[in-house]
Amino acid sequence: MIVIRPERLIIGDGSQSTEGMAVVIEGGRISRVCPSVELGADRDRVTYVDAAGASLMPGMIDAHVHLTYDGSPRPLDYKLATLSDSYPALALQAVRHARDTLRAGVTAVRDLNAPGGVVLALRDAIAAGHVEGPTVVACGQGLSVTGGHMDKGGWGDHVAFRDLNAPCDGPDAFRQGVREQVKRGADCIKINLCGGSLRDPNAPYKQEMTDAEVAAAIDEAHRLERHVAAHTSGGPSVTMAVRAGLDSVEHGHWIDEQTADLMAERGTAYVPTLLVNERNYEIGREALGGSDAGWAWLDRAREDKWASLERVHRAGATVVMGTDAGFMLPHGSMTARELELLVHGGLSAMEAIVSATSSAARLLGIDAGLVREGAIADLVLVPGDPSRDVRVLQDLAALRVWRAGREVAA
Ligand SMILES: [Zn+2]
Repeated sequence: MIVIRPERLIIGDGSQSTEGMAVVIEGGRISRVCPSVELGADRDRVTYVDAAGASLMPGMIDAHVHLTYDGSPRPLDYKLATLSDSYPALALQAVRHARDTLRAGVTAVRDLNAPGGVVLALRDAIAAGHVEGPTVVACGQGLSVTGGHMDKGGWGDHVAFRDLNAPCDGPDAFRQGVREQVKRGADCIKINLCGGSLRDPNAPYKQEMTDAEVAAAIDEAHRLERHVAAHTSGGPSVTMAVRAGLDSVEHGHWIDEQTADLMAERGTAYVPTLLVNERNYEIGREALGGSDAGWAWLDRAREDKWASLERVHRAGATVVMGTDAGFMLPHGSMTARELELLVHGGLSAMEAIVSATSSAARLLGIDAGLVREGAIADLVLVPGDPSRDVRVLQDLAALRVWRAGREVAA
């Protein structure tokens, strides 16, 4: 039995308490949340964690990661790694990425595309206790039209891919794609709805899937009780997909007011992945390469996403924290920066915490994200008050992390 007595208890639903609360952990779960004075005298086999000046909150949840990608700063590097490394090699790297993620206070993630069945197997190995890592909710392979966002060209005709992603063409093929991912054990479905377009600066997005393909994929996924996340750039295709029942809009650089209102009405979550836009500029054009037109697109995407976030937030739709970790940014060590960016984008510090805890848990369909009696004991103890300044979560060395009641070694 572990008793944690923080200065401040952040529940994960937007509320908090500074009333000298104690959180009792037994058998991987939170057995009691009560004022410290209500607990009996010292008992045997009780570990007390007294944390004056610290806050206890639910473990963070990152709703958009790629555990098999290594965070290389160049898109080409990660693309080549997924081709040159065997699935066992990718799996072993993913083990390290999972551990790095957990140690940063991220106790659950949603993986939105991995080659083969690598992350599904990793998810099961973590759940079985063979390796240390966060709870993983995984889509298996993302579904994309031939030549679409996850099936990009640029390779010689003699290069054949197998299992990097799952190309589908036509509504029936998307239905089959959904069924195949679910058969392999996918917890959710990822579709690649639209990509960027450099051709028309007034419409820098282009729909890749047809309306019928989107409807078929979402219908089939829901029939099989899986939620659907869509890689999007924005524009009318997002409006269409939200109407068709999409569960989460990923990236979404161009979301207009009407779509934001529709998302609020339909309960569609927005996972803006702000950090990955910033990473382009931190790494820089010299290292990344790319054309003038490509960078003009990136400039606009970065700029306009702030406005999209503001519209979605103002409309009252659910914002969920997700980083795209693995793609241009390392696992774990930068995750908490996404909360800082959400605050920069207009959320309060507490709203950013909710986006990374209970709201994310609801989207992922997992029992997590709240400090309450009976909940899984996924917890982060952090010096200071993240409900005033989320940046305290970036000092990884100062964090203490519990996953299902067991403290994670630093
Ligand atoms: Zn991604």
